[in-house]
Amino acid sequence: MSGDELWAATLEFLKARIQRQAFETWLAPTRILALNNGTVRVAVPNHFFADWLQHHYLGEILFALKTVAGRTLEVEFVPAPAENSAPAMNTGQRQAFSFRPSAGTTGQFRLRSHYTFDTFIVGESNRLAWAAARNVAHNLGQVFNPLFIYGGVGLGKTHLLQAIGNAALALRPGLRLCYTPAEALFLELIQAIEKNTRLEFKEKYRGLDLLLLDDIHYLVGKEGLQEEIFYTFNALQDAGSQVVFTSDRPPKDIPTLQERLVSRLGSGLVVDIQPPDLEMRIAILLQKAKMDGFELAEDIACYIANRVRSNVRTLEACLVRLMAMHSLTGRPINTALAEEALSDLVHPEEPMDAEKVIRVVSEHFQVPVPELKGPSRTKRIAIARQVAMYLLRSRLNLSLKDIGYQLGGKDHTTVLHAIEKIERLLVEDPGLKGQIDRLLNLLDNNGR
Ligand code: ADP
Ligand code: MG
Repeated sequence: MSGDELWAATLEFLKARIQRQAFETWLAPTRILALNNGTVRVAVPNHFFADWLQHHYLGEILFALKTVAGRTLEVEFVPAPAENSAPAMNTGQRQAFSFRPSAGTTGQFRLRSHYTFDTFIVGESNRLAWAAARNVAHNLGQVFNPLFIYGGVGLGKTHLLQAIGNAALALRPGLRLCYTPAEALFLELIQAIEKNTRLEFKEKYRGLDLLLLDDIHYLVGKEGLQEEIFYTFNALQDAGSQVVFTSDRPPKDIPTLQERLVSRLGSGLVVDIQPPDLEMRIAILLQKAKMDGFELAEDIACYIANRVRSNVRTLEACLVRLMAMHSLTGRPINTALAEEALSDLVHPEEPMDAEKVIRVVSEHFQVPVPELKGPSRTKRIAIARQVAMYLLRSRLNLSLKDIGYQLGGKDHTTVLHAIEKIERLLVEDPGLKGQIDRLLNLLDNNGR
């Protein structure tokens, strides 16, 4: 099979599995550049597409390629203007903009209809963010304005953000809203500057009732854009319009944003989403399987949830793959099939990692593991334990609860305080920072 045939067949396969709108938006504009050494190089219209495909469709694409080619292939997205491609998002006036997302407009960033509050599974780790988001959707501009949601990759920020849009739109069909990733806004602004249409850019965003700005951490280091965005944001807020941001980090870690927003955040709310704990990961798998009409046994859910620990997106990808393998091959859903479905998605050593981090910290600080896990508050032991907690968080993205569990059953508030303390010391105490850097190096190079 030639590369062209392979990609055509892969797209055919994907077409049947991905919502039509999403397929047209993200996959139709792609074309194959080359197939060599087991890697398919695919041209996409720009960096944003590459990123989007990587984050949202990689699992599906790899699975489709494997199915079509009969062997495992890698894929690489190469930003390059594609022939016959849909217009890239930075070319059009209304591209990043959708006033009536459900009514068949051509806005690039249509809300995904299944990103709703109904399909969002609530647990301890995201309850506050969920409650705030719902509240905002029902009381636009009246409760928390702005609402700032932050959390790690794949934890449901975009889902919640769009759920606000979907719910608000259902309540008020004429609502003028815009959902856009900060990156797309950036590209649009660059375009506006090049074309000298900055004023139109401002005007366009000014008339909104609701602005949903995703992944605002993208603005770090892009001072020019920040200026423009906050001008717009302030104007919106002053006019009583609702603004919701998401970010992978809290406002305090986006220095210039913090300065600009600090007075504004007073009238708003900052909420975080934590990684789901084991119980919730199992619940997510069971509920998602059920929504798709699959019966997933609890022990299989538990097996997967133990292996995929930090990220709902990976959890979901694994489930999709498991169900696809089951329906395509008729093989029963058991741990062997789950293992195969997991194979490309998680590192085989992942279950070892927490122990490894604790061991490396123990050796470095010369504190035996049982003491790290024990109750002692001696300063030397406490700091080693706090560093372990910090590393478990920053390296493995474990939930506070899981970190507490790994360290002998500590309370999640203890863990939170430990992490905050180390984050503070990293700034204030170069000696400790040096030690942590060395530990990170050790973990990278020394571990299995
Ligand atoms: P983020 O924007 O934080 O990186 P996303 O919102 O894109 O994460 O979520 C990744 C995937 O996981 C999406 O398909 C989303 O629907 C799903 N997801 C995340 N959290 C939940 C949840 N609590 N309930 C249901 N699905 C979730
Ligand atoms: Mg997101």
